[in-house]
Amino acid sequence: MKVFISADIEGITGTTHWDEADKKNPDYAEFQEQMTAEVVAACEGATEAGASEIWVKDAHASARNLIAAKLPKDVRLIRGWSGHPFLMAQELDETFQAMLMIGYHSRAGSNANPLAHTNTGSAAYIKINDHYASEFLVHAYAAALVNVPVRVVQF
Ligand SMILES: [Zn+2]
Repeated sequence: MKVFISADIEGITGTTHWDEADKKNPDYAEFQEQMTAEVVAACEGATEAGASEIWVKDAHASARNLIAAKLPKDVRLIRGWSGHPFLMAQELDETFQAMLMIGYHSRAGSNANPLAHTNTGSAAYIKINDHYASEFLVHAYAAALVNVPVRVVQF
């Protein structure tokens, strides 16, 4: 089973302020560590569930957040942005059997998460067929386009 993990930081345990998601702020290091730990846990769970190959998309800001040396051996880490239309699911294709979303959060305009937003740090929102869309929904639809089921979402 080939597994794709997309990881953001604003839904990672404990994040409550934009400073904690900003590489230039000293508060960031603690949450970079936590994001990495939660992705490692997801990789371990995927392996226990039978994953034979795991790709991880670092999907926050510069896409250079995860501490590569702490990821399990043989995990493929996708850093940076290629301009691929799947954005946070960049490189996902029909060869995967599962997608996991780690550190995801509520959509722009929601008050369910202090760092709620959709794809930008601003208040800009995305609507699909008149309904507000979260990053989860946008990327779950991207996964559906290539027939990959979303198996786990961690907010
Ligand atoms: Zn986000």
